[in-house]
Amino acid sequence: MVVGAGPAGVAAALEARRLRPDASVVLVDKAAFPRDKACGDGLGPHAVDELVALGAGGVLDGYPPIRGLRLRSPGGMEVAGDPARPNHVVPRAVLDARLVEVAVAAGVELRRAGVRRLEQHDGRVVVDGELTARVVVGADGANSAVRRLLGAPSNPDRALAIAVRGYAPAPAGRPEQLIAWVAEGWPAYVWSFPTGTGVANVGYGLLRSRFHGDRAELHRRLRHLLPGVDPDPDSLRAHHLPFSSFRPPPGRGRVLLAGDAASLVNPLSGEGIYYALASGRLAARAALTAPRDPVPAYRRLLGRALGRHLRHAAVLARAIHAPALAEAGLGAAATSQEMFDTLVELGLGQARITLRLLAALPGGLVRARSATRGTGSTPAGRTR
Ligand SMILES: Cc1cc2nc3c(=O)[nH]c(=O)nc-3n(C[C@H](O)[C@H](O)[C@H](O)COP(=O)(O)OP(=O)(O)OC[C@H]3O[C@@H](n4cnc5c(N)ncnc54)[C@H](O)[C@@H]3O)c2cc1C
Repeated sequence: MVVGAGPAGVAAALEARRLRPDASVVLVDKAAFPRDKACGDGLGPHAVDELVALGAGGVLDGYPPIRGLRLRSPGGMEVAGDPARPNHVVPRAVLDARLVEVAVAAGVELRRAGVRRLEQHDGRVVVDGELTARVVVGADGANSAVRRLLGAPSNPDRALAIAVRGYAPAPAGRPEQLIAWVAEGWPAYVWSFPTGTGVANVGYGLLRSRFHGDRAELHRRLRHLLPGVDPDPDSLRAHHLPFSSFRPPPGRGRVLLAGDAASLVNPLSGEGIYYALASGRLAARAALTAPRDPVPAYRRLLGRALGRHLRHAAVLARAIHAPALAEAGLGAAATSQEMFDTLVELGLGQARITLRLLAALPGGLVRARSATRGTGSTPAGRTR
């Protein structure tokens, strides 16, 4: 059984049916689909690879690849270019409903219920006193009830972000994603992610430990930091992002945690959909190959697939508390397409801190400082 029908839950359910076509897989969610989810809606290339591997590549239909990406440092330096592979932006109200449809078409049973109780005994997990399963995957998001029921602690504020998103008319011209680090609430950033259909997802996010205001203050900062952008007030929605710099055990007994429930959000970029899809897929694999004791198998699979990358992202996320590192990183990204792609991959995929990246940082800082010196202006250093 899978609790939560977001990307992590659907990936677990689909992978279970793919590996064992006769498996009975129940997918439980408290919401009726389509439902909205506060998110930037950005899908990096690795998330797309996961969707394709799950046989769900069609969920992107009607949302063209967004090739351009512009990064801005807190000091105002900009680097723009086309990453090696494009991103996609699909509103979660659309993406998640499509994913659930794919799961149901693959033979997954969808049920609507909010899970509140779990008991493990006699080699079985009993959910809410009525449903029985050999293994349960808890994929119920950032406020996971399953994680709480396992007794795992929630993320401390230093490893938790809060972000608000809204929808606004997309800027004219070639669609380009904008990620701008901002000094207000540092380390913090705003984004504008056009969907390619005339709309842009816009948002602002920062560490929970750096934010002491209320919802109105989040909305004010979003408007102030993205001047000229006018999000529809009804579309403004905020939510927490549990960063992978603090992770609970990946499960207990016959219950596994995947996606946000397992704190699998990149602490550098706030990206979580790729890790949700990958961890859901791996949880299903562990559940089917080692149903009596799936946690060790799952821990191994997760470590092999994501461990080193998430550790490197956590190191950089800590280091970036010094704004000079963000300047140096962008300065380095401006020197070559390879450096640009390395930086993008650290936020969106699988890359690691390389010696070449470290060696490029001092020169990057000099470049960034001279680009913004005196004027604080924003010369765009195109990587191509
Ligand atoms: C503002 C914001 C912007 C973001 N931008 C991006 C981005 O651009 N790109 C990116 O990759 N990531 C982004 N993220 C992170 C991304 O949204 C999450 O990492 C991703 O949604 C995690 O997927 P999931 O399946 O683990 O959880 P979710 O998508 O949260 O799904 C959990 C599901 O569980 C259900 N549920 C919850 N509790 C229960 C219960 N007790 N019983 C039954 N069902 C339950 C919910 O209804 C929901 O459908 C952003 C997050 C925020 C907050």
